[in-house]
Amino acid sequence: MTSTSDAGGAAPILVAIDGPAGSGKSSVSRTAAEQLGFGILDTGAAYRSLAWAALRSGIDLDDAGEVAGLLDAWGYAITLIGAQRVTVRLPGLDPIDVTAEIRDPGISAQVSRVSKHPEVRGRLNAMFRELVADSGLPGVVIEGRDVTTVIAPDAPVRLLLTASPEVRAARRAGELPGLSQAQVLADLRARDAKDAQVVDFVNPAPGVVLVDTSDLDFEQSVQAVVDVVRHAQEGAR
Ligand code: C5P
Repeated sequence: MTSTSDAGGAAPILVAIDGPAGSGKSSVSRTAAEQLGFGILDTGAAYRSLAWAALRSGIDLDDAGEVAGLLDAWGYAITLIGAQRVTVRLPGLDPIDVTAEIRDPGISAQVSRVSKHPEVRGRLNAMFRELVADSGLPGVVIEGRDVTTVIAPDAPVRLLLTASPEVRAARRAGELPGLSQAQVLADLRARDAKDAQVVDFVNPAPGVVLVDTSDLDFEQSVQAVVDVVRHAQEGAR
């Protein structure tokens, strides 16, 4: 596992953002991070990359031991500033840039099979904390489904981005031409149901600010996040 910047200086300010698929979590977090001058860590990319690596290696995704073994053997790198490039290194192979491939619906459909294993979650969480601590950045927005409760429960700013299932499906359908909105809604509900067995990403934990983006456009959603962070920073001064 490698990070992209040198360690040093004060610990980065952490902004933890949770939310279900299609809540705007990834795109809103990325743009908010840019506006704040912070890095961004997309935790879902690691789970997607792990599913990609497991499929490529031919191991059983439902077998916790086999997936943990893959974690011992693989190399994972993600850039925290600018376009988030994701690279996976499998034993005996050159590093492969999987940035585009891990977004494939075929991967989305398989990720829950690796993310359901508690041991895998624990090890990836440790990796996320290390990536942030070693980033050398003034702040990092870290986004994913259990970030506010499990990965970074002590983050000074914690947000839960939500939107209704219909709004989330409409957004995802816009990103996935070729699939009907009904199909996207069905896939999204199925993935929500599977993921909900592992993490509660619908109800904000105590101290977590709820931002419902159902009636907000993209810019308004970004602004809402930036406002919460700036407000918290002012409160801390
Ligand atoms: O956020 P994204 O849709 O890219 O996440 C892909 C999958 O990775 C989720 O459906 C979930 O199974 C898993 N995941 C997770 N915990 C996280 C981030 C993602 O279990 N913090």
